[in-house]
Amino acid sequence: MEKKRIPVSEPVLGGNEEKYVLECVRSSWISSLGKFIPQFEEGFARFCGSKYGVAVMNGTAALQLALAALGIGEGDEVIIPDLTFVATANAVRYLGAKPVFVDSEKSSWNIDPGKIEAAITKRTKAIMPVHLYGHPCDMGPVMEIAKKHSLFVIEDGAEAHGAEYKGRKVGSIGHVGCFSFYGNKIITTGEGGMCVTNDAKLAERMQFLRDHAMSSEKRYWHPEIGYNLRMTNIQAAIGVAQLEQIEKFLAVKTRNAKLYSSLLQKVSGLTLQPQLPWAKSVYWMHSVLVDEKEFGCSRDELMAKLKERGIDSRPFFYPMHQLPMYSEGYSDKDFPVAVELSRRGINLPSSVKLSEDDIRRVCAAIAEARQ
Ligand SMILES: *Cc1c(COP(=O)(O)O)cnc(C)c1O
Repeated sequence: MEKKRIPVSEPVLGGNEEKYVLECVRSSWISSLGKFIPQFEEGFARFCGSKYGVAVMNGTAALQLALAALGIGEGDEVIIPDLTFVATANAVRYLGAKPVFVDSEKSSWNIDPGKIEAAITKRTKAIMPVHLYGHPCDMGPVMEIAKKHSLFVIEDGAEAHGAEYKGRKVGSIGHVGCFSFYGNKIITTGEGGMCVTNDAKLAERMQFLRDHAMSSEKRYWHPEIGYNLRMTNIQAAIGVAQLEQIEKFLAVKTRNAKLYSSLLQKVSGLTLQPQLPWAKSVYWMHSVLVDEKEFGCSRDELMAKLKERGIDSRPFFYPMHQLPMYSEGYSDKDFPVAVELSRRGINLPSSVKLSEDDIRRVCAAIAEARQ
């Protein structure tokens, strides 16, 4: 019998998504006004432990809006981890500013706080840590460095809705937190994003810039150049339904992570995603590093062997300094940890939909691939 393919990720839309979307269509509130938008903003901000939420059309737009609202632009520098999804770097570039890359730390796979200060110059305006693959960054030292040098902190929480650093939800620790609701994220709105903050003025500034910088007193009066980054009521309707299920999703992810860990621990040549004592990861991805010598085949060979057995996987991101538009002035020697993680890392099937049998099948295929 042909075994079913196991994808890396697929959304679960088993709650009130259909009902709420139908409500939008039937009431004709399908554009960027409507009750689901404030409902989603308030609900998600509350979930993060933040006061305000500003919904936008995707996660990249959330990063762009946060940077714009903080006044970052031409000539400025923003520190980001070398190992991240390209959107983190691109958002900085969209504003005319320069992303400056910092290596990862071995223990958490996130930006190494010990290497941040060496990257600070007179032009540095902000640090944008990323909570990679669902594991929070070491935010304490990041916030201390930011305070010492008067820098803003924008958390890229696109992969980590609900993750906690010392009991605090990510996104609520820096000046602003940015999230994505793309189809493979912890919760989805199809495409979507949000900025959360405790700063009322900043929230207002983000609302203003999101909507063509239109004056709230004088319609069609635009004192500066804004953007159209708005989310639609249909997206927010799906978001509200997803938010109703987020605790369930997170519990399933934690349970799946435990099962993966118990089945893969014994396989030599594999290193599981770390789980630091101060961290609560949301396991956006179930990630492992392949030690080619110990394991007997390379990361890419393992991926190919899984594919033959109907199991999808993904390699880690390329470090930003290796991409053609960001490589100038950098070499692999500057980022030994990020380069190594990127070369050896693989993300296994990570859907909330995975059954225990699926996970056992993935782990058995990995054990078989070992030589
Ligand atoms: C997904 C993601 C984004 C961008 O989100 P989109 O909604 O796809 O624009 C930004 N940063 C990181 C780390 C991501 O994983």
